[in-house]
Amino acid sequence: MTPSSIPVATLGTPRIGPRRELKTALESFWSGKSDEATLLATAASLRAANWDRQKALGVSVIPSNDFSLYDQLLDTGVMVGAIPQAYGWTGGKVPLATYFAMARGAEGGSHDHSCTHGHDHGHGVPAQEMTKWFDTNYHYMVPEFSAEQTFTLASLKAVDEFLEARSLGHHTRPVLLGPVTYLKLGKSKDPALDPLSLLPRLMPVYIDVLRRLAANGADWVQMDEPCLVLDLDTATQLALRDAYGMIAYALPSLKVMLTTYFGGLGDNLHTALSLPVAGLHLDLVRAPEQLDAVLEKAPRGLVLSLGVIDGRNIWRADLPALLDRLERAVTRRGTDHLQIAPSCSLLHVPIDLELEPDLDPDLKSWLSFSVQKMDELATLGTALGGGRDRVKDKLAASAQAAAARKASPKVHDPDVTARAASVATVLKHRDSAFAVRAQAQRQRFNLPAFPTTTIGSFPQTPEVRKARSAYAKGTLDDAAYAQFLREETERTVRWQEEIGLDVLVHGEFERNDMVQYFGEQLSGFAFTRHGWVQSYGSRYVRPPVLFGDVSRPEPMTVEWWSYAQSLTDKPMKGMLTGPVTILNWSFVRNDVPRSTACRQIALAIRDEVQDLETAGAAMIQIDEAALREGLPLRKSEWKTYLDWAVECFRICSSGVTDETQIHTHMCYSEFNDIIDAIAAMDADVISIETSRSKMELLDAFWTYKYPNEIGPGVYDIHSPRVPEVGEMTDLMMLARQRLADAQLWVNPDCGLKTRKWEEVRPALVNMVATARALRSTLAEAAE
Ligand code: GLN
Ligand code: ZN
Repeated sequence: MTPSSIPVATLGTPRIGPRRELKTALESFWSGKSDEATLLATAASLRAANWDRQKALGVSVIPSNDFSLYDQLLDTGVMVGAIPQAYGWTGGKVPLATYFAMARGAEGGSHDHSCTHGHDHGHGVPAQEMTKWFDTNYHYMVPEFSAEQTFTLASLKAVDEFLEARSLGHHTRPVLLGPVTYLKLGKSKDPALDPLSLLPRLMPVYIDVLRRLAANGADWVQMDEPCLVLDLDTATQLALRDAYGMIAYALPSLKVMLTTYFGGLGDNLHTALSLPVAGLHLDLVRAPEQLDAVLEKAPRGLVLSLGVIDGRNIWRADLPALLDRLERAVTRRGTDHLQIAPSCSLLHVPIDLELEPDLDPDLKSWLSFSVQKMDELATLGTALGGGRDRVKDKLAASAQAAAARKASPKVHDPDVTARAASVATVLKHRDSAFAVRAQAQRQRFNLPAFPTTTIGSFPQTPEVRKARSAYAKGTLDDAAYAQFLREETERTVRWQEEIGLDVLVHGEFERNDMVQYFGEQLSGFAFTRHGWVQSYGSRYVRPPVLFGDVSRPEPMTVEWWSYAQSLTDKPMKGMLTGPVTILNWSFVRNDVPRSTACRQIALAIRDEVQDLETAGAAMIQIDEAALREGLPLRKSEWKTYLDWAVECFRICSSGVTDETQIHTHMCYSEFNDIIDAIAAMDADVISIETSRSKMELLDAFWTYKYPNEIGPGVYDIHSPRVPEVGEMTDLMMLARQRLADAQLWVNPDCGLKTRKWEEVRPALVNMVATARALRSTLAEAAE
């Protein structure tokens, strides 16, 4: 008998192109430099290259319709004709202009994302709202439904791309976002409307698409229902049964691979196994333990797709170790009803490790990007299909890399592990309680009521970006670049003094990115040249790679802080990124728990805090912009995460004296469910996003009787709009209904780096005027 490979799937691949070709094409199209045909031709060539690459690497279950010009949720909305009225669509094929208006707003209003989920309100038609796709850094366009919502087939993209692949010689398994996850992720303008109730109206369109796919020769489709890894209510479980029941009834011979990822099925296992589908994909990286239960309970004929290669991280697998685990599945079920796959679509990892000539060769040998992962999958498929011999060299190399990584001194620093292991409770507590500290700080700073400050960054102008890239290219030398940054900083400090801000910042001009800047100065981090991952639309990020024990060879920010403070007598905030945010925005090592890696970063940041204090910094801000987004998908896991996340913040912040004021900043607006943790962080001052929610989110702080000081953002920095004094005063009055005057600061929602100086100048002048007006009402009241 000749050995045959077990089918190998990818579930989806990166769309952006190895050299970010899609970004270039999109931006050129948006700016009017190229036409629609050119954009579509680039997109087609990226798809073709993707299909060819997969086939060449031994992938046998190749996806189609995983490509998107912007976002797959947006594509789904367009497919089913769920286009909000504002975009003026009246039926027929959805024009590209409408598609991009939904994505980016009309009249060029583009998103800016300094924060977790901000978007530009712009002028003209606003873009649809955007938010994070589960616990990834990918942002999707939030579907928007109304009570009169109807659905109609408005795009044949899924069918077109299936046929396109076929004409190139690839028989693909088209990917559709499942109807239940699609509705669950949507929101409704009418509070009375539960999006899920739209399922009966939506299903005919899905069935129409599936019917057309089947008529054109598709035998399998992949339907993604990642909502199955969330805590689901009964209504959602029933909706899943309805949806897949209808599909099975309408198309009895079309096989559905129901795809779940980003976690285990847990208590939804029964629901998943009861659906009339031909296949079920499991994330066995996040939830390896579910394999046994599934092997036990899955009906005989169900094809299991085993997601064993990590689609969310960049580490090379230990293939022989994986094989040992998988053999069990093969013994139990035979090879006919198994497929091998990544845990989720490869969309979330960079494309090709071979584009990284600068990486340390050892580190490189431990990594695997999308292309390498396809090769790993194919190797597994061959080995499991009985061809272990044919891939023995690959297996040996894989085991060897795993062993080398485990033993490497580049990864393991005994001093760091020893220090992290001995973090004593004293390292997690300030000397005194907040009330005592507040007293000491009041005496030291003597700030007016409603003190004003900003969050850290000032506009990153084209000049700043130009200087940075010239410096990176080597056309601007160290001295000239430093001089440029000093001038920029000085001007910004002087301007803040001039308009009368109470607590100043240096502007962060020397920072490329709030995580990368620190990663580059810490040991244990590496950076790629082309390791881009889509964040949203044409915006890609290059997350740092945290590969080893973390330490801080030398101070990272003290020099810039000292320079900035030397320019003024006003307090200058030291400005740091917190450990949880650094962790959550990096590719993190998988050989230690996340909490362990985070504690190491926390200790490094603690050293920096200490050094800033010694240098004279009286206020130090530690940003935890990404603390909330690190929350596990299942509520039962929140506490464990929050416990270590808070502990890490306290490790960095608790080494200072009572008179040193610790600030933190968080750019999101939901605190109700994590307010205990926020309070436990015990920062002296926290600045948060509140302007868009009209201070509603302060309710959490009020009900909780949050004792420390708060700067509720009064200036929405996601919008180019300049807020008036009256508006900001109104917002502060709302804040004063919920919090004591002595607790309140006046500041913007977030950093100003994405704004223009023309917007920032009048906005901050107005903000200072707002604080002054509030102070004078206090004075009048006292008379
Ligand atoms: N200090 C950072 C800044 O002002 C904070 C950014 C953020 O919270 N995303 O840009
Ligand atoms: Zn922010």
